[in-house]
Amino acid sequence: MSVLIVGSTALDSITTPTASNPRLLGGSASHAAVAASFFGPVKLVGVVGEDFPKRYLQLYKRHRIDLLGLQVLPGKTFHWAGEYEANMNNRRTLKTELGVFETFTPALPAAYQTAPFVLLANIAPALQHHVLDQMRRPKFVVADTMDLWLKVALPDLLKLIKRLDGFVLNDSEAQQLTGEDNVFTALKKIHKLGPKHVVIKQGSHGSILSGPRGLFICPAYPLRKVVDPTGAGDSFVGGMMGYLAAAKGPVDEHIRRAMTYGSVVASFCCEGFGLQCTTKITRAQINGRVEELERLTRF
Ligand code: AMP
Repeated sequence: MSVLIVGSTALDSITTPTASNPRLLGGSASHAAVAASFFGPVKLVGVVGEDFPKRYLQLYKRHRIDLLGLQVLPGKTFHWAGEYEANMNNRRTLKTELGVFETFTPALPAAYQTAPFVLLANIAPALQHHVLDQMRRPKFVVADTMDLWLKVALPDLLKLIKRLDGFVLNDSEAQQLTGEDNVFTALKKIHKLGPKHVVIKQGSHGSILSGPRGLFICPAYPLRKVVDPTGAGDSFVGGMMGYLAAAKGPVDEHIRRAMTYGSVVASFCCEGFGLQCTTKITRAQINGRVEELERLTRF
């Protein structure tokens, strides 16, 4: 089954303590779509400007990502610039140039409206609503968000959360949303907002799922060197949704393993700038790391 992914399709300029890389392919939807593509068909919804490099379109195509829902509009592609501190965890946004995103209204091609799995990757909640409004009875809808929307679009976000099967956010966002710094109390509070499945991401400490079958603690793959963590969260949720869409049977039977696959794709993402590492890996390498994680966490 296919997964529909809407989110940002961006050019990212990323600076770390050791290097600077301008105008890489980025955006929440790009990272999530490439991650999901290792498991099955992906339909991308987004917008880019006329300056979007052809080689990036080719890269989506190499991953067999359906681009019928990617609009190319006059104007500039969304450009985000960020800089990491020495610990590679703290990040400062230097620039957010919306470009064609400012006036973007996603219109879904008919073939997209029946996709059973929907990932509303990080983007303004009003756009996430707009996409969901066009879907016909999807099987499993998950959304991701960021601190900005909790600050500037909370009412829209709260309305969206009610409509979701699953909500994915990181630990600081969960604290911002609930006022709770205990992750388990925060999970309970977020369930009360609507979704049956809530996942709180904890960066290099993994993630925690609370769902109908209880809690699951998903490990992060132990990396000795992080080159650039941009897009790791998007790769995690993209990999998870890609795996779920490809699995047969109820979501609850597969979601733990799906998170583990997402966690492994996110680990590859951290090993290169932007999508440079994720776009070079194979399904066999992903499987290898999942097996390692199984050995590391079995007791
Ligand atoms: P993450 O590292 O998982 O937080 O995701 C980073 C990605 O989010 C980058 O590729 C950016 O292009 C994208 N991004 C940054 N700011 C925004 C924003 N305001 N809306 C949508 N996407 C964004």
